[in-house]
Amino acid sequence: MPKHNLKNALQHPVFNTISKATSNLQLESYVIGGFVRDYILKRGDAKDIDIVAVGSGIALAEEVSNLLPAKPKVSVFKNYGTAMLKTAGVELEFVGARKESYTEDSRNPAVENGTLEDDQNRRDFTINALAISVNDATFGDLLDPFDGLKDIENKIIRTPLDPDITYSDDPLRMMRAIRFASQLDFTIEKESLEAITKNADRIKIISKERIVDELHKILASEIPSKGFGLLHKTGLLPFILPELIALQGIDEKDGQRHKDNFWHTLEVVDNISQMTNDLWLRWAALLHDIGKAPTKRFDKKIGWTFHGHEFVGSKMVYKLFKRLKMPLNEKMKFVQKMVLMSSRPIVLASEVTDSAVRRLVFDAGENVEDLMTLCEADITTKNPKKFKKYHNNFQLVRDKIVEVEERDHVRNFQPPVSGEEIMKTFDLKPSREIGLIKDAIKEAILEGEIPNEYEAAKVFMLKKGKSLGLKEGSK
Ligand code: ATP
Repeated sequence: MPKHNLKNALQHPVFNTISKATSNLQLESYVIGGFVRDYILKRGDAKDIDIVAVGSGIALAEEVSNLLPAKPKVSVFKNYGTAMLKTAGVELEFVGARKESYTEDSRNPAVENGTLEDDQNRRDFTINALAISVNDATFGDLLDPFDGLKDIENKIIRTPLDPDITYSDDPLRMMRAIRFASQLDFTIEKESLEAITKNADRIKIISKERIVDELHKILASEIPSKGFGLLHKTGLLPFILPELIALQGIDEKDGQRHKDNFWHTLEVVDNISQMTNDLWLRWAALLHDIGKAPTKRFDKKIGWTFHGHEFVGSKMVYKLFKRLKMPLNEKMKFVQKMVLMSSRPIVLASEVTDSAVRRLVFDAGENVEDLMTLCEADITTKNPKKFKKYHNNFQLVRDKIVEVEERDHVRNFQPPVSGEEIMKTFDLKPSREIGLIKDAIKEAILEGEIPNEYEAAKVFMLKKGKSLGLKEGSK
């Protein structure tokens, strides 16, 4: 095997310190995993560096800290036999080389001390098992027992050992394989793909949080459909996002068909990923049609309908986030809002009136741009004429949004006449009438009956009060 020296990967001064600490303790140490992989892939300098020591990783971390002028704090995780420290913009994680053995019901193996080779054997993929020596005599030498370098060149995801055992031992690796394939645009080798398919149901023993971490990374990749397509192909998706699988398929009745909303959704996700890196907007794209499965009906007069799917879908977002232990915070509310409003601009595009645009801007508030982006990504027609027409229509809506907003400022709507002023004017205590008047003013502005200005709103208020039988107070 030709020897490769990757000294250039070890230019950060901390590697010299690690080398010295390794000699002082008479150990061996290697940088391994993502750092090496990403260096070879030229993905930029990784900030997380994993160091494996043949001996005590914790002792090595402490010696490294000792040798550094700033003496950075070493965080020790005794249970895992690991230690971490931060220095000069990088985070170093030290671990002793280990040998692992697994049991049926857990992804946490029994662990014993081992050689570098044992440690490389326990790595998930050949491309993650590459190690570079930090030892003085062999500084920079690449140790690549499984031809990981070749797999990087050929863009292949492959396990060092029997894939069936590798994935069954730790089913999280199935998600990781698919995530790397999506993130790096690699192909999962055939035996691996078969092993994942065979072991798909083992994903049940993996915590939701770990699964979601991988889903985020798939969604953040350049072409997320690659990852979601693989989750579908291997049979993992029904365990993770059954709501998406429910969208698959085309029904036909009386010669009428609807589109396959699963594949359509993946197209929308790819489209939006060209337009934004916002993870939560990508989630909104992924979930924008989930209400279509439970609302699907066939009507003899109008054909297939999904009436109310936006509302049903937005409710499903909450359940889905809860099940996956995702945060039930403003991010979830944002996704819900996007799903709920996902058809609004489409309805508008056929007839762009001022008042409808004002209502859209009022309801979407600060998220109106995101909503437009989602709707544009939703255009997946293969008919070039229609494609152009829909985009042109949305451009008209976008122009109108700017025009209306400049004039009417309804985006972050503040009532031009306060409740307090209404109370004073009509000498009222807090009561239902105040809400009625405020609401009527807002409606009149959105309908374009009056401009969004104080004077006009005040005149309107007086008129409205009168019609409710109120009298102006003495003040
Ligand atoms: P990224 O930083 O993009 O997540 P990474 O490969 O650095 O990629 P980490 O989770 O930090 O991912 O893992 C570091 C290394 O530990 C991996 O490169 C791999 O060698 C090993 N590893 C991580 N998770 C597993 C696992 N489930 N099974 C086996 N080896 C793993």
